[in-house]
Amino acid sequence: MHDVVVVGVGPAGARYARRAAQQGYDVLAFEQGTVGEPLACSGHVSTDVWAYTDDARDELLQNEVSGARFHTDGPGSDAHPFYKDEVISNVIDRVGLDRHLAELAREDGADVREEHTVVDVEEDRDGVTVEVRGPDGVETHRAKMVAGCDGPKSRVRRELGLPEPDELLHGVLGFDEAADHGDFVDVHLTVPRFFAWRIPRGEAGVEYGLAVPPGDDARGRFEAFTEEYDADVTRRCSGLIPIGPPKRVTGRRSFLVGDAAAQTKPFTGGGILYGMTAADHAAREIDPEDPATLGDYERAWREDLRRDIRLGHAVRAGYSVPKVVQKAGMKAFEGEIGVHMDRPSTLFSREQLKALLSRS
Ligand SMILES: Cc1cc2nc3c(=O)[nH]c(=O)nc-3n(C[C@H](O)[C@H](O)[C@H](O)COP(=O)(O)OP(=O)(O)OC[C@H]3O[C@@H](n4cnc5c(N)ncnc54)[C@H](O)[C@@H]3O)c2cc1C
Repeated sequence: MHDVVVVGVGPAGARYARRAAQQGYDVLAFEQGTVGEPLACSGHVSTDVWAYTDDARDELLQNEVSGARFHTDGPGSDAHPFYKDEVISNVIDRVGLDRHLAELAREDGADVREEHTVVDVEEDRDGVTVEVRGPDGVETHRAKMVAGCDGPKSRVRRELGLPEPDELLHGVLGFDEAADHGDFVDVHLTVPRFFAWRIPRGEAGVEYGLAVPPGDDARGRFEAFTEEYDADVTRRCSGLIPIGPPKRVTGRRSFLVGDAAAQTKPFTGGGILYGMTAADHAAREIDPEDPATLGDYERAWREDLRRDIRLGHAVRAGYSVPKVVQKAGMKAFEGEIGVHMDRPSTLFSREQLKALLSRS
C-alpha cells in the first residue's frame, strides 16, 4: 500500500509530491497528459516563485515587471500606474515551470507517471482505492490517502463529494509574437466582475487575456479586446479559474490542494503560489497514517491564506463599482506602492504606509 496517491502534477501536485517524498513517504503521482500541457496560464507570478525552484531562474524567466497600469476603459484610455522602484513580479515559462517542479519531485523520490488518468476514487476507513487508465489499460492502486491536485474541475473532488468552488471563471489567452521587454502590465476593467490584461513577455512576445463569469461571451470579448489593441494574435488557449475557497477541502482519507481547493487570489485568479504554499502545509501537517491530521491541514492553510483571500474578494468587488468611483479610488492611491502582489494584507503594512507618506 502506498502512503499517498497524488492526482494531477501541476504546481500544487508536484510541490506536494516533492515535499511528501522528502519526508520519506511512498508517493505515487499521476498526470493525465504530459506535465505542463496544455498551457492555460499567464505564468505571471511574484518573485517568491524562485523559493520553490532549484537554479531554474535563468531557464524559466521571460520578463521582469515593476508595475501595472490600470484603465477603466480600453487601450489608449487614461492610465493609473501602480509601481515599485524594484522588480515586483516575473513573467515565466509556465510549461517549463511545471516540468521543472515535476523533475524535482522525481529526484526526491516520488514516482511520477505521465499519460495516466485517474478515473475513479473511493475512500474507506483504512485508505483509498484509485482506478487509473494508463497506456497498458486500467490499473487499481491502494493508498492510505489521496491528494486531489487535479485542477479546477477536480475529479477527486467530484468523486468524493467534496464541496465545489463558488465560481469558475472562464479565462482566454492569446499571444502576439512581437517581442516586448516593457516592465508594466496593463489591466483593463472593461469586462464584468473581472478584467482584461496585456502582459509583455520579452522575446516570447505579448500576451493578451481576460476572464469572465460563466455564461458570458469570453471568446467574443477577447476578439474585440485584441482588435482594439490591433494585436496579431497567432496562438490562443483557455482555462478555468476557480474562486472560493469552499468550506471544506478534506474528506475521510482525502485532501485537495491548489485549484482543486480553489486556493487562488480572487482579485487576479493567480493560484500558482497559493497552491504551492498550501502544498507545503499539507506535506507538513498530514500524516497519511492518521486521518485526524487532515484537520491540521485545513487549519494551517486557512490560517495562512484566509485574510489575504478575504481581502482579495474585497479588491475584486472594486471591479464592479461605477467607473467614476473606480477612477477616484485609483487617483487617490496611484503611484509608488509597497504592496506584495500575493498578499493584499500588505495594503496595511509599514512599507505601504511609507510609500503613501513619501508622496505628500
Ligand atoms: C487564463 C488563465 C491565466 C492564469 N494566469 C495565472 C498567472 O498569471 N499567475 C498565477 O499564479 N496563476 C494563473 N492562473 C491560475 C493557475 O494556472 C492555476 O492556479 C494553477 O495552474 C493551479 O495549479 P494546480 O497544480 O492546482 O492545477 P493545474 O495546474 O490545473 O494542474 C492540475 C493537473 O492535474 C491534471 N489532471 C486533471 N485531472 C486529472 C486526472 N483525472 N488524472 C490525472 N491527472 C489529472 C491536469 O492535467 C493538470 O496537469 C491562470 C489561470 C488561467 C485559466
